[in-house]
Amino acid sequence: MSSQVVTRFAPSPTGFLHIGGARTALFNWLYARGRGGKFLLRIEDTDRERSTPEATEAILKGLDWLGLDHDGDVISQFENAARHTEVAQQLLAEGKAYKCFATQDEIQAFRDAARAEGKSTLYRSPWRDAAPETHPDAPYVVRIKAPQGGETVIRDQVQGDVTIRNDQLDDMVLLRSDGTPVYMLAVVVDDHDMGVTHVIRGDDHLNNAARQMMIYDAMGWDVPVWAHIPLIHGPDGKKLSKRHGALGVDEYQKMGYPAAGMRNYLARLGWSHGDDEFFTDDQAKEWFDLGGIGKSPARFDFKKLENLSGQHIAASDDAALLHELQAFLAATGEPALSDDKVVVLRKAMYCLKTGAKTFPQLIEKAEFALADRPIQPDEKAAKNLDDVSRSILMELTPHLQNASWSRDDLEGVANQFAEARDMKFGKLAGPLRAALAGRAATPSVFDMMLVLGREETIARLTDAAG
Ligand code: GLU
Repeated sequence: MSSQVVTRFAPSPTGFLHIGGARTALFNWLYARGRGGKFLLRIEDTDRERSTPEATEAILKGLDWLGLDHDGDVISQFENAARHTEVAQQLLAEGKAYKCFATQDEIQAFRDAARAEGKSTLYRSPWRDAAPETHPDAPYVVRIKAPQGGETVIRDQVQGDVTIRNDQLDDMVLLRSDGTPVYMLAVVVDDHDMGVTHVIRGDDHLNNAARQMMIYDAMGWDVPVWAHIPLIHGPDGKKLSKRHGALGVDEYQKMGYPAAGMRNYLARLGWSHGDDEFFTDDQAKEWFDLGGIGKSPARFDFKKLENLSGQHIAASDDAALLHELQAFLAATGEPALSDDKVVVLRKAMYCLKTGAKTFPQLIEKAEFALADRPIQPDEKAAKNLDDVSRSILMELTPHLQNASWSRDDLEGVANQFAEARDMKFGKLAGPLRAALAGRAATPSVFDMMLVLGREETIARLTDAAG
């Protein structure tokens, strides 16, 4: 048997890819990618009523945006149904499962009686040890023979050893009376057949693990390494709600967080590596380990997300960032950038990416590069274009016109101009921002001049001064 790590993400396609699911996917991806392993994707679509192709599409899109690529084909659990049934039949043939002919009424009567006597209401079927000759010609379910004594221990990498008394496990149904396999069976068979070595998933599945272990044991299959991760809570420690950020990942894309920042933040949500907050994908892949996952629920915090997002924007390669910005515009239904604007933005990216925490903030800073003449100052900027300011601009413009258009020279000209008039440079900056960008908050005036070039800069200054 190969020792290659194989993880999987196994979402149920009943809605968007929410933030908790995205984190689960990320943890599995990091674990596999950091170990030269495989990361598989299985869509758990056996619930035909609740599963929709749109939801599958949304999950695939969300993973794609987050950059969590999977190996091999997307697996549909539903399509494996025949194999799930085959395993149940094998257990039946080996006497590890049995046909149970009890009717719903009989099961209910058993429970009522148990309740009345103060006993466990877990159903104990009289058919467990019934001889086949006694089987009626009637509908039946197939149940697994749960171990009757002792304990089941889940050796969980996050929760530690979780012990469950076997008398708390019932003879779980494997095949329903219409012959369809149950979900719990499907998960185990698929995980086994896909060669999954590590199951990292939400701790809402911890109880399932004990029941799933019955199937592994009955089949004599290796149990995967389990890691049940605590769910994500809101900043107030309560269950994550929409208000807290329990949204589809597509909403985060639309809010303008870069995927790298999102990955970094989600990795930190419940996992840590010392005090490291900001890290690259390569570092995360190298560092990620199950031992670093916390036992208590992580709290979602937009401030931290913003902070990391800003750091990733600043650290991004200019071309890649521009590309992602274009994808952001497309995702939010904004018109695509013209070729000219793409060129200017590419030139401007170096001075846009510092200090912008999200793409909307970056676009705000990019106003000078995106706007066309004549520049329309907003209300704040217009205050910097009163008569005095306009005459200052009119005087300054010819000086700039003769500058060599290097940063040093532009700075020199502006400073000299201010000094000669006993003016603080700040007095000059406001009108320049207003003239060049129509905004009060912009990148540095020299960066704007360098990006726009001499001709465009002079034209904008002349427009404003006139
Ligand atoms: N389909 C399950 C879910 O979406 C995950 C099952 C598993 O990871 O074993 O919650």
